[in-house]
Amino acid sequence: MASTSLCALCATPLGAAGETCGRCGARPVHYWVRVLCEFQCRGCGHWAPLNYLDLDGSVLCQHCGLEQVFSNSSWQEALEFAQAVGDLAGGPDGRWPHSVVSIGLDNPFAAVGSPKRPEAVHAQSGSITEDGLQIPKTLRIKAAPEHPRDPETGQPLTFQLLAPWELRSTAPASGRTRTYKAAKPNLPWVEPVAAIVSEEYRSDQLTANVGQSPTGVAILQCPSCGGTLRPEPGCRAIDCSFCHARCRIPERLRYVIRSPNVAAEPWWILFSGPSDLRKRLEAGEETDAGNGADKARKNAPKVVREASLIEEPSVTDRRLYWLMTIVVCAAAWLVSTFWAGSLVE
Ligand SMILES: [Zn+2]
Ligand SMILES: [Zn+2]
Ligand SMILES: [Zn+2]
Repeated sequence: MASTSLCALCATPLGAAGETCGRCGARPVHYWVRVLCEFQCRGCGHWAPLNYLDLDGSVLCQHCGLEQVFSNSSWQEALEFAQAVGDLAGGPDGRWPHSVVSIGLDNPFAAVGSPKRPEAVHAQSGSITEDGLQIPKTLRIKAAPEHPRDPETGQPLTFQLLAPWELRSTAPASGRTRTYKAAKPNLPWVEPVAAIVSEEYRSDQLTANVGQSPTGVAILQCPSCGGTLRPEPGCRAIDCSFCHARCRIPERLRYVIRSPNVAAEPWWILFSGPSDLRKRLEAGEETDAGNGADKARKNAPKVVREASLIEEPSVTDRRLYWLMTIVVCAAAWLVSTFWAGSLVE
């Protein structure tokens, strides 16, 4: 699978799993996961896009504009799922095969990233109680082990980590760069996230403001000169017609301009290190990975790679050994018999 064998930073193809990148010297701790996230709106019932890691406790429905409480624990589960997909996809033991314990029988994401199963889907349901409030958990996430690519050429982008949650991408053909910066929250479960590539986090563009026209209608304004911006429906950024500054239209203001594009868009998460699910699988713990699809396999005995414990010769090796012994013994007997005979004469 091409996507998992690229260096996450310089996009150089890597050889064996776990190999250090020969070009940038990066240890293979980082890997990309493409995600597509939605939540079900409590007002209109539609599935609305979550195009970035919105952790301020509320989300806005792009269909009806309803701002609603959203539990961060929904994101915790989604991130753990996405990391597990990135870590465990692409083979029975995924990215970091254990030297002794094989998780191949329990790995729910072994085939993810193949043409048959390009992505894995996780849907959350039910509700949780936070501060006396019943909050539904309706996040739906699709995750695939995929390196971000230049939308124009399809070539893998190269990256430079500038700081935690801040990076620069470079398109190999044009050399065009983009920077992304997000505020890293102080939450233990976001620690495996090294950086995020989402239009919402573009730091190389100004961010459009919302203002009011003299007639009281909400309008978008250039943050540089205050001029009114008139974006085409559905666009994500626009050049100010007065000062020519590039202005990004943030997710929350897209509803203001009644963007008809309400489908979720993919974004990319750069993870580092093995996933929690891998650790649980290696420890032989019960998991509910794969939304229950793999429950039948749960009680399968853990496969231990005997070959790595004891160097045991194979059946063929043993037969060859006995055959050689017999041949050598027979030759020795023949030689000694004829030599003894020639001495007697
Ligand atoms: Zn590299
Ligand atoms: Zn809605
Ligand atoms: Zn302007």
